[in-house]
Amino acid sequence: MQFNVAQLLKESTGATRRYELTESIDGLDEELKFLGPLVGIVQLLRTNSGVLVTGELSSVVQVTCNRCLEPIAAAVRFNLEESFRPLTEVYTGRYLRPDEFEGLEEELEDAALLIDERHILDLSEVVRQAIWLALPMYPGCNWEGSGVCPNLGKRMAELSDLADIELYTDEEGPHEEDEIDPRWAALLKLRSDDDSAKS
Ligand SMILES: [Zn+2]
Repeated sequence: MQFNVAQLLKESTGATRRYELTESIDGLDEELKFLGPLVGIVQLLRTNSGVLVTGELSSVVQVTCNRCLEPIAAAVRFNLEESFRPLTEVYTGRYLRPDEFEGLEEELEDAALLIDERHILDLSEVVRQAIWLALPMYPGCNWEGSGVCPNLGKRMAELSDLADIELYTDEEGPHEEDEIDPRWAALLKLRSDDDSAKS
């Protein structure tokens, strides 16, 4: 996800590069397990202050079903639109100060949006953040309806074979709401609202 933009920076405003990506992103984030490469289109546009990156990208991440706690695959799709600014002037190598650019201070100071002194534009951090934002908030199996997720039933059967313990289903389980930690109550309410909206 690194692009050498030295040549693009020497071109005039409006010059573009277009890339089709199919790139492994294993190791991009230690908390995310990717089940497929990052794929999509990225376009780099020379602006008067740097390079504007736009793109449409997708990948597949392993998440946990919020009903049955089994690992499932979630597609993540996201668009990018980020302005990168060069750390140095491409012809002279002179360091450029943030105040030489127009824009919000926090963006100009953001290390993830800097083109380094070797003129490498690195999309990794921007993509990593975009993937977190694109992850489903309540990932679930394809199964829809009321009652017990089939995977949950299967998982419970396996567990009860292993441990011979009594297990409750969603429908017949003990009524736990009174004992629920208040910090979780709001979250659970959101989840049940979400479920009832689907069915
Ligand atoms: Zn499930």
